[in-house]
Amino acid sequence: VADRFSSFGQTIFTEISALAAQHKAVNLGQGFPDFDGADFVKEAAIQAIRDGKSQYALMTGVPDLATEIADVFERDTGIEVDAKKEVTVTAGCTEAIASAFLGLCNPGDEVVVFEPAYDSYKAAMAMAGAMVKPVVLRPPDFSFSRDELSAAFSSKTRVILINTPHNPTGRVFTESELQFIADLAARHDALVFSDEVYHRLLYNGACHVSIAQLPGMYDRTVTLNSLGKTFSLTGWKVGWAIAPPPLSHAIRMAHQFVTFSVATPLQHGAAAALRAPPQFYEQVRADYTRRRDILLEGLRDVGFNVFEPQGSFFVMADFTPFGFDDDVAFSKHLIEKVGVAAIPPSGFYSNPAEGKHLIRFAFCKTDAVLLEAVRRLKQHL
Ligand code: GLN
Repeated sequence: VADRFSSFGQTIFTEISALAAQHKAVNLGQGFPDFDGADFVKEAAIQAIRDGKSQYALMTGVPDLATEIADVFERDTGIEVDAKKEVTVTAGCTEAIASAFLGLCNPGDEVVVFEPAYDSYKAAMAMAGAMVKPVVLRPPDFSFSRDELSAAFSSKTRVILINTPHNPTGRVFTESELQFIADLAARHDALVFSDEVYHRLLYNGACHVSIAQLPGMYDRTVTLNSLGKTFSLTGWKVGWAIAPPPLSHAIRMAHQFVTFSVATPLQHGAAAALRAPPQFYEQVRADYTRRRDILLEGLRDVGFNVFEPQGSFFVMADFTPFGFDDDVAFSKHLIEKVGVAAIPPSGFYSNPAEGKHLIRFAFCKTDAVLLEAVRRLKQHL
């Protein structure tokens, strides 16, 4: 293994899913739905295959999809973008993030990142040779200290990476927080990479704001999104980056050599997905609100100290009431003795001690599965 990966192991998601399968645990670990995507989306991809749309797509994305992405973005943010020059379709948001770092960072550039941080972020930075400057989001509300954030910026800061709604905490950044981040980015002439893949999954009136919407910010922002979470199609790996032409050009420099292009028929399916009416998203939100309530209520009943998520399909909980003091040991106990799998988040921090008392549960699961998980927790914990 090359030196750049010496501090990385197998991803925790793969590890926990394998353990869950081995012990027949209910898997509330890796964040993928256990229900299927919608028929109208699947049919569009199947039709594209029947129609012989199976050769390489354009490097930047199937035009029909790029146009839908631009239209949805304009409807959501009011920003008009040129689908040809400012939208790049990637193999999931994970590739978009990697291509953004590879295309826009030089070795030694600094990247400010909030922790707990989704694990691919730091690996993508390592591939680009960028240096991590962490700022910790702390319970109970997982907001950040403005002083700590200001102190993380330096003359070497090239990017601040944000993720809202945030995985794993479920935090939705407020407009005032985003404005504070925007002001810092402008002052240090830094770019913002904004991972917004959970933007449709919002609860209790939480409101999603894209940082690109704030005055003057579009020109320094890469907005990242994907199909997988909203449409329950995580295995399709269709994502995208929206950025002004010079930034999109840089991202495409990497993308053309990393994957070149993304599965053509799935892009046609994705285009159909993005034509979904507003009622589709309302239904998604209603379904996720119900799943979230089942899990939150269950975890509280069992005795966890639960930190209510405002967005995403994850909930963080403090398990110290059960007498454990290590998240990895606790997750092992859950899988082996309780029959429920969840993600220990300490690996998402530069200082693992910050997350040692926390565990992340995913609620992108059918009601019956969530109820069974709660039943096992009540019985065996
Ligand atoms: N995004 C998913 C999660 O946080 C995992 C994706 C993966 O396994 N790479 O659970």
